[in-house]
Amino acid sequence: MYNVKSMDSNEFIDDAEVLESISEGKRLSKSKAEIDKILEKAREYKGLTHTEAAVLLEIDDDETLERMYRIAREVKEEIYGKRIVLFAPLYLSSYCVNNCKYCGYKCSNNIGRHKLTQEELREEVRALEAMGHKRLLLEAGEDDEICPIDYILECIETIYDEKFENGAIRRVNVDIAATTAENYKKLKDAQIGTYILFQETYHKPTYLEMHKGPKHNYEWHTEAMDRAMLGGGIDDVGIGPLFGLYDYHYETIALLMHAEHLEAVAGVGPHTISFPRLLPAEGVDYDSFPWLVNDRDFKKIVATIRLAVPYTGMILSTRESVDFRNELLEIGISQMSAGSSVGVGGYARKAAVDDGGVEEKPQFNLADHRKPIDVVKGLVSDGYIPSYCTACYREGRTGDRFMPLAKSGQIKNCCLPNALLTFEEYLRDYADGELRLMGQEMIDREINTVPNEKQRARAADYLKKIREGERDLRF
Ligand code: SF4
Ligand code: SF4
Repeated sequence: MYNVKSMDSNEFIDDAEVLESISEGKRLSKSKAEIDKILEKAREYKGLTHTEAAVLLEIDDDETLERMYRIAREVKEEIYGKRIVLFAPLYLSSYCVNNCKYCGYKCSNNIGRHKLTQEELREEVRALEAMGHKRLLLEAGEDDEICPIDYILECIETIYDEKFENGAIRRVNVDIAATTAENYKKLKDAQIGTYILFQETYHKPTYLEMHKGPKHNYEWHTEAMDRAMLGGGIDDVGIGPLFGLYDYHYETIALLMHAEHLEAVAGVGPHTISFPRLLPAEGVDYDSFPWLVNDRDFKKIVATIRLAVPYTGMILSTRESVDFRNELLEIGISQMSAGSSVGVGGYARKAAVDDGGVEEKPQFNLADHRKPIDVVKGLVSDGYIPSYCTACYREGRTGDRFMPLAKSGQIKNCCLPNALLTFEEYLRDYADGELRLMGQEMIDREINTVPNEKQRARAADYLKKIREGERDLRF
């Protein structure tokens, strides 16, 4: 029985409610007036219910799709302006006791595995800082013996501690297996930014079929965010299915039900939603997955979610090709990874394989292989402001202190100047001559668009100070 406030995942992601929403979506989408009504509501940045989103997922004619993309573009522009926040994933360990069918790290794969030592981790961090990164997403396979929570905590401390030239990692987000409230509390105390856990699939029978090992427990996995927020006190959480494991209609509707549940029980919805799409990986029979999502449908999903949860950060990984990424940035994506390595030790050097002697394989294959500086140049050429901002979490603007600012649109007064300040730092410390010219021109132009006069003057003053050598000035 569907109950948004239930603490049982079988009730807040009630299968019958998802199926009912899909058929309601099919029925209502036959009415042009109904679609118009939902698109008009979306235009007011008030978000949509999962049932309304179900209607948009049924749109199939090009003209209406284009209209929806136009509105998604408007909503994104109004809330996020032109900034795109950049981050890098950092793989700590490829040991894993699970056998997820779609993943290159599954335990049945005979690949060389590695766990970073603290010294290797420092090398990785220095390499990432030398690329200009300020925000990381830690990744590790699940293995309580080889990679226990204490190891993760030690790594977080090392990362925050390692400073290279003007570089510093200012926000560490963490993507590790579902764990106990006690361990989430430890992560909070270690000052993580967002705790991210991909749901993979909300469809329970598919979930059970895909996962062997401790991750097989659907309820433990699906209720992880409740433990993280209510038990562990973590303010910002990030969710997202792996599109392609099951019907995207089901996944998208259930994802929105999950967001509604978090808002109902914790007072804040997800801080971010990620959009991984099933891709080829070592030992994965890609063609055996019947629900792969094509580009056209994937774009529709991104636009629908942008309209349904306008204030949630939307994250895309380097799994997508450069051209397609650009299309998705326009209609909804607000954060992306740049210059990613999805192998353990991949940033600093090829990891020493310490068991098996087989060359290390990544968790999945990438489509965007550009260096971070080329990603940044691409963004600037397309009119986006690359942002290395990490200010909110460091200013205590998290959870229920963040959401009202986001929902009232006031956060924009911080995002734009912070994007310009961190981009200025990047230009000073990491850019080549070409990018410095392009970037400086952009900053000089965009500073005039900061809406609040006082903030504009303060931003101009901070920019001057950064040019004189100061760092880490923020709103
Ligand atoms: Fe392990 Fe995660 Fe890969 Fe599953 S998806 S095999 S838990 S690394
Ligand atoms: Fe994100 Fe806050 Fe920075 Fe805006 S000001 S980019 S919301 S961290």
